Amino acid sequence: MPKYVYDFIEGDRSRADLLGGKGANLAEMTRLGLPVPPGFTVTTDACRAYLATGAPPAGLYEEVNAHLREVEARLDRWLGDPRDPLLLAVRSGGRYSMPGMMETILDIGLNDATVAGLAARTGEERFAWDSYRRLIQMFGRTVHGIPAEEFEHELAAVRATAGPGGPSAEQLRDLVDTYKKIFARHVGHDFPQAPHEQLFLAVRAVFSSWHSERARVYRRQERIPDDLGTAVNVMAMVFGNLGPDSGTGVAFTRDPATGAPGVYGDYLTDAQGEDVVAGIRNTVPLTELARLDPVSFHRLREIMATLERHYRDLCDVEFTIERGRLWMLQTRVGKRTPAAAFVIAAQLAEEGLITADEALTRVTGAQLAQLAFPAFDPTGAPEPLAVGVGASPGAAVGRVVFDSAAAAAATGPVILVRPETTPDDLPGMIAAAGVLTSRGGKTSHAAVVARGMGRTCVCGADALRIDVERGEFRVGDRVVPAGELISIDGTSGRIWLGEVPVQPSPVARYLAGELRPESDPLVAAVHRLLTHADAVRTLGVRANADTPEDARRARRLGAAGIGLCRTEHMFLGERRELVERLILADDPAELRAALDALLPLQRADFVGLLAAMDGLPVTVRLLDPPLHEFLPPLAELTARVARAQARGEDPGRDATLLAAVRRMHETNPMLGLRGVRLGLVVPGLFAMQVRALAEAAAQRLRAGGDPRPEIMVPLVGDVRELAAVRDEARRVLAELDGAPEIPIGTMVETPRAALTAGEIAGEASFFSFGTNDLTQTTWAFSRDDVEGSFFPAYLARGIFGVSPFESVDTAGVGRLVRLAVAEGRAARPELTVGVCGEHGGDPDSIAFFAAAGLDYVSCSPYRVPVARLAAGRAAV
Ligand code: ADP
Ligand code: MG
Ligand code: MG
Repeated sequence: MPKYVYDFIEGDRSRADLLGGKGANLAEMTRLGLPVPPGFTVTTDACRAYLATGAPPAGLYEEVNAHLREVEARLDRWLGDPRDPLLLAVRSGGRYSMPGMMETILDIGLNDATVAGLAARTGEERFAWDSYRRLIQMFGRTVHGIPAEEFEHELAAVRATAGPGGPSAEQLRDLVDTYKKIFARHVGHDFPQAPHEQLFLAVRAVFSSWHSERARVYRRQERIPDDLGTAVNVMAMVFGNLGPDSGTGVAFTRDPATGAPGVYGDYLTDAQGEDVVAGIRNTVPLTELARLDPVSFHRLREIMATLERHYRDLCDVEFTIERGRLWMLQTRVGKRTPAAAFVIAAQLAEEGLITADEALTRVTGAQLAQLAFPAFDPTGAPEPLAVGVGASPGAAVGRVVFDSAAAAAATGPVILVRPETTPDDLPGMIAAAGVLTSRGGKTSHAAVVARGMGRTCVCGADALRIDVERGEFRVGDRVVPAGELISIDGTSGRIWLGEVPVQPSPVARYLAGELRPESDPLVAAVHRLLTHADAVRTLGVRANADTPEDARRARRLGAAGIGLCRTEHMFLGERRELVERLILADDPAELRAALDALLPLQRADFVGLLAAMDGLPVTVRLLDPPLHEFLPPLAELTARVARAQARGEDPGRDATLLAAVRRMHETNPMLGLRGVRLGLVVPGLFAMQVRALAEAAAQRLRAGGDPRPEIMVPLVGDVRELAAVRDEARRVLAELDGAPEIPIGTMVETPRAALTAGEIAGEASFFSFGTNDLTQTTWAFSRDDVEGSFFPAYLARGIFGVSPFESVDTAGVGRLVRLAVAEGRAARPELTVGVCGEHGGDPDSIAFFAAAGLDYVSCSPYRVPVARLAAGRAAV
């Protein structure tokens, strides 16, 4: 019989797959001797079995009962005992944290008999009845899907008639009666009185909550697999709502927004944990606890120091104080903003808690990319409309919306404005540029979820009176309706009417060489980690750049050369006419003349590029796109010719162009006359480009420079194509003096090139994988056509976890890459191998390219720092 239930003292943090993150960490805290209420975890295995069959696996209930008896014996308190009942919390918790996305049911074990026992033990009759009504509501919602509003409505009515001290015990008892009626009306039978039945129904409901809509949406967003299932943690209840010497809170060992050291958190007196996360009442800062209950505060700080040393990372905790006694209900390595991730990793390395290599694994390329986003200019900003809590950094400008539907329907950027958020607001949070709430602190739902998604968030702006129904909010007598433009600053918490200008972030300025590393703690951390990444990485990072300006920018950002210069970008603008001449040429002399006119222009382009990248390789790709891309579009020409004819004029050149466009029309241009094929059918085209590059290099040499040009042939499928271009290039180079040696290599961007890489390497000094085309040709996807049409459906159905154009498809395209590297290097050991598709700037793809043994990646200039960091991570 498989084991489905683990007592907290049996597990540990390494077993999160089986016990879920929450269960594994509760076990770890128990092992560390920290004050955790006793309990046990039902495994994710049991959940998967349940979800597969719709029934709990055989023997599960017996196993749960056996563990329950141990807990009862330890506490000397029994589930269902009418004099002094044990109450249970039944809590979800999967492998990966999904805050608030699945279900938790508290106060299991209360019924008409035990409620009196609870009142007697605690001396709090009101509390006992309040707990009972909470149970009926949570149980009703979670197990039977009864809308929370049905209960909330009644609760509000009772609160309205209650005195200043809140509802009396009698009122709450009557409310329980009302709740039971609501329950019976919805479900068709009475609220179950048998505590064990409550427990098992709750366990099943938690299992099922894995498949709730909001959990699915969250998993898709966070790329968490759909088939893991959740564990269920069953543990003794402790009560934070037993009066002023009780309470509950959430805390972080460092500030999760900035990474600044020092315990940080929110506390709520006389409350249950759910009240904090829901942001229902405004919390006080944790430091207040030092005044309210210094003993518990001190103990909490000790525990948090222990946890941070033990986990060697930022931890967050949920805790509850029951009548002066501290209990730990949860811990995990805490979510944090990108800025905090860098600052904390650098600090922990400095403190010697982790190594520099480990520090690199604590940050991601995606986080670095986010930090380079612009921020509001604090000097140019007007008086803010209001100030809330900066909960997730960033500068967001957008139109006010009040719900998910409006956020999803909007065309431009929006700010989702809510009193507080619940998991139902998740689609709106995903769609919005920023989130603004009037209630809740840095640990409220809005704050936690926004930080996880990298969404800008300001919460707890209590000057805002938000009226979702009317679709407006007020600050003083100022009314802000839906659709109004506002700006929110997730760092300072400031909120402005209208659009506030943004300025480059300090990290972007540092990366561009405009700020010194020691200028602030975040920049210092980025500097430290990037420097280490550069020291350990084996993968080179080049940039894709076509102009001297891009090349210089790339170089400042740390690029070690150009991996792809697209020469087609040099054929645009005023040169279009020359290109048209080239295309329309109908005899060799005409063609020659057109090429001769282009030559000096190309040469000047290359001189500038080689100068900007002096001493570093510059890989120039010969002309790649179909020639008709340089002509005006068919529709436009047709209209122009028709208009001229209608006016009785001679369409002249337009008629010639139109004829050419018609002649050159292709049904599948992506698979047509382009790349190396052009070079082979348009005499002299590639020769002109080779000559321009060689003459440019010679000119740079004469000027005392150190040019390192390389020639790259696109879209090769057969070695003979490459050999033909190489022969032609060699002939051109042989005629020139004073040019340096120019390596000639090829792109590998067709499956056939990859499959015959051994042969092709015989003619190539280097390979550069063009993973955009290789992805298109391997999948038979036309990127421009598929991304907007069926990709969303494929992503939703889980056929892709992520678009293969975003992260390289390692199983298919990646297999071709590995094969080509192996066979290419076998044929030519000194073969240099790089990648120049957009994947070269994608951190996940970079990890793959490093593992596949590539020499370098080439990406757009602004991704260069991201690639440096990702390459460093791949090396440790
Ligand atoms: P989530 O994963 O959504 O945070 P939890 O399982 O942590 O859900 O439960 C939600 C809240 O219920 C917690 O914030 C906690 O304060 C409260 N809670 C959980 N376990 C107990 C317990 N044993 N006693 C009292 N309150 C609890
Ligand atoms: Mg929790
Ligand atoms: Mg290509």
